[in-house]
Amino acid sequence: MPMNFETVEVTTDLLIVGGGMAACGAAVEASYWAKKQGLKVTLVDKASMDRSGAVAMGLSAINQYLGVGKGKNTVEQYVEYVKNDLMGIARDDLVYNIARHVDGTVHLFEKWGLPIWKNDAGDYVNEGRWQIMINGESYKVIVAEAAKNALGMDNIYERVFVIEPLLDGDRVAGAVGFSVRENKFYVFKAKAVMAAMGGAVGVFKPRSTGEGLGRSWYPPFSTGSSAYFTIRAGAEMTCQEVRFIPVRFKDAYGPVGAWFLLFKSRAISAIGGEYMVERRDELQNWAPYGLVKPIPANLRNYLGMLDVSEGKGPLLMMTNEAIAKLADAYKDDPKAFKKKMKELESEAWEDFLDMTISQALLWAATNTQPEEKSSEIAAAEPYFIGSHSGASGAWVSGPEDIAPPEYFWGYANMTTVKGLFAAGDASGASSHKFSSGSHAEGRIAAKAAIKFIVENSSQPNVDMAKVEELKAATYKPLELFEANKDFTTDPEVNPAYIKPKMFMFRLQKLMDEYVGGVSANFSTNKPSLEKAMELLAFMQEDAEKLAAADLHELMRCWENIHRMWIAESHVRTVMFREETRWPGYYFRADAPKMDEENWLCFVNCKWDPATGQWDVFKKPVIRLFE
Ligand code: FAD
Repeated sequence: MPMNFETVEVTTDLLIVGGGMAACGAAVEASYWAKKQGLKVTLVDKASMDRSGAVAMGLSAINQYLGVGKGKNTVEQYVEYVKNDLMGIARDDLVYNIARHVDGTVHLFEKWGLPIWKNDAGDYVNEGRWQIMINGESYKVIVAEAAKNALGMDNIYERVFVIEPLLDGDRVAGAVGFSVRENKFYVFKAKAVMAAMGGAVGVFKPRSTGEGLGRSWYPPFSTGSSAYFTIRAGAEMTCQEVRFIPVRFKDAYGPVGAWFLLFKSRAISAIGGEYMVERRDELQNWAPYGLVKPIPANLRNYLGMLDVSEGKGPLLMMTNEAIAKLADAYKDDPKAFKKKMKELESEAWEDFLDMTISQALLWAATNTQPEEKSSEIAAAEPYFIGSHSGASGAWVSGPEDIAPPEYFWGYANMTTVKGLFAAGDASGASSHKFSSGSHAEGRIAAKAAIKFIVENSSQPNVDMAKVEELKAATYKPLELFEANKDFTTDPEVNPAYIKPKMFMFRLQKLMDEYVGGVSANFSTNKPSLEKAMELLAFMQEDAEKLAAADLHELMRCWENIHRMWIAESHVRTVMFREETRWPGYYFRADAPKMDEENWLCFVNCKWDPATGQWDVFKKPVIRLFE
């Protein structure tokens, strides 16, 4: 079977893997510097850049904008906010570097045509302190257009799923992948590679099953490829234990940001108490982080989770109350009141229509009028999204001018593998970059990558025998299916192979039950984690038997292999950190307290491509300022 697949070789200087926010930022910046040096930049995305990645459906707010130029905030304040939100575990140098560049990126978005809300004075409308409102249903299309214009379509490969890095000793040499539409196997040879393939969804069993299967907070396209790619290259990873659990509108996962921040809504339990008020004392147990404002995201989750554990659920977002309060000032003027109510109603719906259309559909399907009744909210299943309120990703070098020596090794955002860069969800310990910060970080990483190429101009060697091996492994699921499919009457069930959907269900079930998913009430302990490791070992063996009926299913096979690796890195690091630091993300029931003395540190891990061994270890948290 692999014989029928043409091998296409592409030789380039910088290879950007991914087409999301970070990759689009990288494309724009890299082309600028590459042109000056006569270098070639190539981008490869598993989907179509216009609507790929987490911003595919659009967004209603840009979540990182400081307004430094207008004196609204300082970069130091942003670093402080992120450090507290992550319960002390953040790289100040990385967060600082993104924060000092992010406003410029937002101004570029506006220049490229993104409508940003403005008040009468012409200033951006803030949703919260760091968030600004946008008409963002076409956000990704606008950002992708700039990237495409910068690179030129000849240098962009869409619908090519990258599976594996290529190495030349301790240096990255490129990547391989396959077209999900054509019988083509791609070999990209590059002097530097930037990983920007987003985070991971579908590692844990989602709340949505049956009819709703596939619905999750995180759009289903990102399946752990960034982590897989950097781990398999031998890069050191960080914060792989720091998953993210968003509390969102139940079942359709609609955003809550506008409700909490813009509409100033309250959330209460079904019994009626406001958990953020009634459980305030619990925050003392998580001091100093529990005592800062805003309260860290995971602790806000935790207080609600405590109510649900006590049987007081479901939690309710008081949309009706919030709208009534906002309209109250107009109550003496019926015409103005009616106008205000219409305005609030349209803002409420637009918030969903901009970024989570299914939530608007669910409201419509259930006759929910937000001005009339409250809506349920719930903690979602865990995700890996280092650019949002999680922190997982590769351990990357900080910027030369501010990083302490322990955090600097030559080029900003280079992983511990020579020539391999990471940004957005792919780089860790620099939480809260969101869409704008990921784009800014992509630009930072790309500029550094071009510098690396100029200073390391030789083309690394690609071992073509290894490439042939990878090609055979890539298409093996198709061969396995063809050879065995007629053995059973239903090709979905077969003793000789496992279909990717079944494989995914198995992974999700074990992660859910043993590693603190929804069913386990986000709680785990050492014996459960050991059980998860035992089951993951069986999965590793059975991954050899993955089977695919077509190219689409082949992509599903590889997506799940990638998921399995990020899952393993997660289990190993959750096991290593013998404390509970983010109780609203996961709870180590056998180590239920935060231990500042022993665990105010990063937990890093590394897989050695030569031996196949994992190593998990501590790295110090070094503050730039107090
Ligand atoms: P992405 O933008 O997700 O891009 C990943 C890219 O990698 C995609 O192009 C994908 O197709 C590609 N890819 C994946 N696997 C492969 C592979 N194997 N081979 C090739 N290509 C691959 N930010 C805000 O500012 N405001 C918000 O309101 C906001 N809301 C959010 C809501 C949700 C539900 C989510 C999930 C995120 C939200 N964010 C928000 C955060 C923002 O979307 C992310 O921070 C940002 O998209 C991260 O950029 P990235 O480039 O790392 O990943």
